[in-house]
Amino acid sequence: MSADARHQAGEAAAAREVDTAPRPFDPDATIFERSRPGRRAGTLPADDVPAPTIEQLIPEHARRRQPPRLPEVSEPELVRHYVGLSRRNFHLDRGFYPLGSCTMKYNPKLHERLAALPGFARLHPCTPDELAQGALELMWRLERALAEIAGLPHVTLQPGAGSQGELCGLLLTRAYHEDRGEQRSRVLIPDTAHGTNPATVTMAGYEPVAVGTAADGGVDLEDLRAKADQHTACLMLTNPNTLGLFDRNIAEIARIVRGVGATLYYDGANLNAVMGLSRPGDMGFDIVHFNLHKTFTQPHGGGGPGAGPVAVADHLEPFLPKPVVVRERRGDGFAYRLDYDRPRSIGRLRGFQGNFSTFVRAYAYIRALGPEGLREVSELAVLNANYLRARLAQGRAGRYLRPGFDRTCMHEFVLSAREAREQLGIRALDIAKRLLDWEVHPPTVYFPLLVEEALMIEPTETEPVERLDHFVEALEAILAEAEQDPEIARNAPYTTPVRRLDEASAARRPQVRLLLT
Ligand SMILES: *Cc1c(COP(=O)(O)O)cnc(C)c1O
Repeated sequence: MSADARHQAGEAAAAREVDTAPRPFDPDATIFERSRPGRRAGTLPADDVPAPTIEQLIPEHARRRQPPRLPEVSEPELVRHYVGLSRRNFHLDRGFYPLGSCTMKYNPKLHERLAALPGFARLHPCTPDELAQGALELMWRLERALAEIAGLPHVTLQPGAGSQGELCGLLLTRAYHEDRGEQRSRVLIPDTAHGTNPATVTMAGYEPVAVGTAADGGVDLEDLRAKADQHTACLMLTNPNTLGLFDRNIAEIARIVRGVGATLYYDGANLNAVMGLSRPGDMGFDIVHFNLHKTFTQPHGGGGPGAGPVAVADHLEPFLPKPVVVRERRGDGFAYRLDYDRPRSIGRLRGFQGNFSTFVRAYAYIRALGPEGLREVSELAVLNANYLRARLAQGRAGRYLRPGFDRTCMHEFVLSAREAREQLGIRALDIAKRLLDWEVHPPTVYFPLLVEEALMIEPTETEPVERLDHFVEALEAILAEAEQDPEIARNAPYTTPVRRLDEASAARRPQVRLLLT
């Protein structure tokens, strides 16, 4: 096929989609352009209660010179504005989103109701402990639940993100070693680790040392033995790792690291595969961080809020950030308070008690499911991932998308689009972009770096089999189409409000987003 013909095929695909789509009168008008002076989104009877005037309330020098530039629209226009924005975006409430819990899994809507309860949402962070007993009890109970899930007895809820949990864990490691009169300078990290791990190590003043990956996708034991020594402060590990594989040698890894007196840090950002099935504490880890905004269902699009609680073993407890929530017997019941009297604490990591609304949602999730429910979440997440893995080993997918590591996976697996690139001339990015035309969000691509042309697929527990089948069909169709005409995938997507973005400047110049509002 000539370049011209290929171009026309791409155009035709675009035109077909656009022609059938309903076209609102001006799909690109912003809410500011739709604004007309005096229009309102609500009507109330006139206020007959005497109230102070603005002049009485706000001194002259503090008053605005001009009214704020707010759009004035009717209620239907307001609702259309938000529905329109949500259509322009691809989100979990719209379709299959194989970035799974490592980015975001389904967030039950009930949690929003609970987090918005006035007793939680309106509680001032400086409220005295006696008047915040419910909130403190919720924090205490959440800590207990997370301790049980981790298999480690003590928890701090303070860190505001997974990466801050990592920093907390390394500061605890340093405090622990210094308390023993030891100076250690290095932290071992497998080369499959999440990018925040080496960044945190550097930030905490340690030197990151990469440990290689063995042929089965686990830690290379030889390399670990060679690099673990008296300078090693810690090993940071994710298990299952970012390839979605459970390390078969975890007991031996723990033995090696313990043998040189280092701490074992478990990056538990994504516990979706192991809740109620295996516990980091039982595997030999001393420190675990959780991402409540991943495994424990917090909507965190747009950058927040998150929470990265940390669980630790007994020997690290004295160093936990302060204050800690304590429960004491009082009369027939219990009283809760914040304990600041912690002389060996590493101090505070952030203001107040952390992102409290994330605690409410996570607690609701854990209590609604219970221990059996959480285990079922993990079992279904693993089942769904393996179902997809098995189906994608057949047909065209099996030919062009090869497994990075051909083993039973946990909650996610990694395919390599190398054959698609070599035989069809389309890359992982092209496949990801073409999926958008199938109402499927692209999976993570080009991570982990260890797998060439990586597509990382994490379906999560909430997807019905029909959605998984649709995903397989979409990939099969994209590959079949590319056998005929690779230009179609190379120019995809066709049905989205914007096509291929300059991703580097989109990330580096966020004012682009402001222009769209
Ligand atoms: C997301 C993630 C992190 C970082 O968590 P943030 O809350 O984004 O700081 C760390 N490790 C792994 C494995 C992750 O998936």
